[in-house]
Amino acid sequence: MAVRSAVAKSPKVPEIRKGDTVVVLSGKDAGKRGKVERVVRIDAAPRGGRSIFRRGSSAGGVKVVIEGINIAKRHTKPRQGSSSGIGGAPKIEPGGILEIAHPVPIGKVMIVCPSCGKPTRIAHATLETGRRVRVCRHCGEQLEVKA
Ligand SMILES: [Zn+2]
Repeated sequence: MAVRSAVAKSPKVPEIRKGDTVVVLSGKDAGKRGKVERVVRIDAAPRGGRSIFRRGSSAGGVKVVIEGINIAKRHTKPRQGSSSGIGGAPKIEPGGILEIAHPVPIGKVMIVCPSCGKPTRIAHATLETGRRVRVCRHCGEQLEVKA
């Protein structure tokens, strides 16, 4: 929608992408590391509108779903499937514990450099090709995830 300005500087949004390894800075999973499965951008809930995300941070923001981090267990009971099969017994859905990784606000994680293994702030560099890449502030290695 909005036209991208030539200088796309958004200091508030650290560039964490899918596939990055991050360390959690706070909360019950503080200190844990995991791989980013998904980056979710949450728009601020419209006034009076209902956010699909439950209360918590009111403003929009970027969150990341990290493998094995911020797991919420949801217990489900076995129950009968809704559809009656073709003359057969109704299907029973087994109960159990679903483990769902919930998004963590991006401000609570820090990217971990795959080269030196340290959590790092992100610096940027421009390659000869003109491509902008993220680099580690400690060792200067690129943080790009190989596709
Ligand atoms: Zn490094």
